[in-house]
Amino acid sequence: MSYKIDSSKCIGCHSCMAACPMMAISAAQDGKCVIDPTKCVSCGTCASICPVSAIEPEQK
Ligand code: SF4
Ligand code: SF4
Repeated sequence: MSYKIDSSKCIGCHSCMAACPMMAISAAQDGKCVIDPTKCVSCGTCASICPVSAIEPEQK
């Protein structure tokens, strides 16, 4: 399980990128952030910091 960013909600503030302890989040070409599921440890920090609640756990 990892966390996933809803790109339709993301406003590209990059707060999550700075907050992730695993550096699993990077900015895509459109400025919105994406999570690398191979690095994410599902700590939830990014989800709690996102101002528009664009990040949620992805059930697998
Ligand atoms: S859940 Fe934690 S490890 Fe995964 S992307 Fe968010 S801050 Fe990074
Ligand atoms: S904190 Fe939320 S709105 Fe900001 S870049 Fe990350 S996913 Fe997008």
